[in-house]
Amino acid sequence: MPASPKTVAERLADIRSRIESACERSDRHPSDVRLVAVTKYAPLELVHAVVDLGVCDLGESRPQQLLERADLLHEQRPEALSWHQIGHLQRNKVRKVLPAVTLTHSVDTLKLAEAIDRIAGEDGLTPRILLEVNIAGDEAKDGFAPQTLREQWSRLTALPRLEIAGLMTMAPHSADPEAARPVFAGLRELRDELRGLSEDGPTLKTLSMGMSGDFEIAIEEGATIIRPGSGLFG
Ligand SMILES: *Cc1c(COP(=O)(O)O)cnc(C)c1O
Repeated sequence: MPASPKTVAERLADIRSRIESACERSDRHPSDVRLVAVTKYAPLELVHAVVDLGVCDLGESRPQQLLERADLLHEQRPEALSWHQIGHLQRNKVRKVLPAVTLTHSVDTLKLAEAIDRIAGEDGLTPRILLEVNIAGDEAKDGFAPQTLREQWSRLTALPRLEIAGLMTMAPHSADPEAARPVFAGLRELRDELRGLSEDGPTLKTLSMGMSGDFEIAIEEGATIIRPGSGLFG
């Protein structure tokens, strides 16, 4: 059955109660976990529905769709919405995307980080970004290999315009959410390690991890942002 505004409301209520339970289990507070609704496959009607329900963080993987929807909703809605770029960002899209987004989750190479820093300098911006890490070593996925990130850390943190707010990862798809736990724990441990590398380096408070199939495990392992899509919109 295709999702309707009513089923989106039911699904959101279910996700919110599962967030609360996962927080209880791990002695965390639900206000420390931000829900970014991933709207990449949702028709516009359902994007409106989820905003009607009080969600104000929206994630898109394709820059073009993000920019179009950000413009459209800005014209049509009174809410202040925050847009998140969650998918691969090509360097030639950086200048357009930066001013439209709250957070870019998917900075996956030093080259891209350098391009963002340079353009931010030219345009007078100080973008918040996450570094995407390929913890699972999945050949088909983007992201820094953990070892590359260690090696390039001092160059990344020296980029003057970038606010490196934390790390992001995707777990390989699996029918068993528990399979994602080592991946999420690995991201948290890498964060702790990088945090320890320099005294005045970024504190890396943000861990963006967990999608529809595995967000409860991600919360238990320290996610501060979860990114459900299909679980909300079908
Ligand atoms: C599509 C996507 C999601 C949402 O995935 P679902 O399985 O539909 O919840 C989250 N994060 C990223 C980076 C995505 O590309």
